[in-house]
Amino acid sequence: MSAIIYPTTNLKATETLTLERGDGVYVYDNNGNKYLEGLAGLWCTSLGYNNRELIETVNEQLSTLCYSHMFGGKTHQVGMDLSDKLSAMLPVNNGKIFFGNSGSDANDSHIKMLRYYFNAIGKPEKRKIISRERAYHGVTVASAALTGLAPNHEHFDLPFEALGILRTDAPHYYRGALKGESEVQFVERITHNLEQLILKEGPETIAAFIAEPITGASGVIVPPKGYYEKVQAILNKYDILFWADEVITGFGRTGNDFGSTTMNIQSPDLMTLAKQLSSAYMPISAAVIKGDMYEAMIEPSSQVGVFGHGYTYSGHPTAAAVALKTLEIYERDNVFEKAADVGEYLQRRLAEFRDHPLVGEVRGAGLLAAVEFVANKSTGEAFNGGAIGAYAQQACQKHGLITRSVAGSSLAFCPPLIITLEQVDELIEKFSKGLQDTLDYVVR
Ligand code: PLP
Repeated sequence: MSAIIYPTTNLKATETLTLERGDGVYVYDNNGNKYLEGLAGLWCTSLGYNNRELIETVNEQLSTLCYSHMFGGKTHQVGMDLSDKLSAMLPVNNGKIFFGNSGSDANDSHIKMLRYYFNAIGKPEKRKIISRERAYHGVTVASAALTGLAPNHEHFDLPFEALGILRTDAPHYYRGALKGESEVQFVERITHNLEQLILKEGPETIAAFIAEPITGASGVIVPPKGYYEKVQAILNKYDILFWADEVITGFGRTGNDFGSTTMNIQSPDLMTLAKQLSSAYMPISAAVIKGDMYEAMIEPSSQVGVFGHGYTYSGHPTAAAVALKTLEIYERDNVFEKAADVGEYLQRRLAEFRDHPLVGEVRGAGLLAAVEFVANKSTGEAFNGGAIGAYAQQACQKHGLITRSVAGSSLAFCPPLIITLEQVDELIEKFSKGLQDTLDYVVR
């Protein structure tokens, strides 16, 4: 028994896998068993394992400038090059970037930047943030409060009120629609609820609305068509900022450069990035705000003091170097375009399981997908508890496929962006075997 804490919601159902090495889209455990990494680690190893260019970049940077930071009077070239390149790729107008180490800490930085910004423009009462049910935004105290999942709240006594967190509906038609409600009616209803919430709270008290364009950890929820158009119209009407958490959906994951593009979200005001920013070779995140916000924050006449924030590893040069190289590879090798083609194929192949007796819904975009299991296919009745997803995850693992049980009864797929069509076929074959084992378990 080692001395590490393994936080997991399914300690009993999930065995711990000890991984030893990786190569391309495959990883190997300490017994030499090979697995297709169907979740890109934790939705992050976009360029796969053992990428020599990324490894050499890390080594080179370590031997030139192994450490510095990017605030309080210090900067470095590789970090500036990264921020310029990243900003030019983003759908955020003239995006300005604050680097951190994780998606969670980037979301915390955003909360502080929002507060500082609204103080700077003389609207300190604008401090509430609307987040959605089933959202996942991280696990630090503030980002866990943004998160809309009960297991991430229980036992922690999170400061929802102090942070001004408001909650609105998840755009989850399959689970959230009323009996007989069409997608159009569903969108009408939940966006009406959003507007009512804003009016009840007072628009002048609300700073921003945060959303993952397509959720990940809560089961890959793809909102119905027209949802974000309506949301953005409401936010614009009440002068509320749109904050896109693209920690999973950023960088070619959903069939386009960003999830915001896939979901027709216009120019987010804030954006959170991490994971695929460096293909996970080093931890790095980016809290991005539109240029106008930054200009107001540094405007001498509106200075409200010092923005007292920054992590030891903000803009760590090694992480910055490998992130910059990752972005260069994305561009040079047309990674996003290729991933979009293979992603369409993955969605088509997974759709073949729609008629399976255990499968309630198959959903996703690009190389991001989930299969939701149901106890009763015709009514959509869910399984009790989280055991079915954990069982299916384990069954797939036995057949050499790593996936992830999400939201209790769904299995998520998010392979490295470099996966080939043939490897998608292999993923499908392994999933099919794991699914058969799961069915045998359920009907035994
Ligand atoms: N936001 C989203 C949408 C995520 O999916 C995650 C992690 O999965 C986070 C934030 C938190 O990122 P991290 O685990 O790097 O803190």
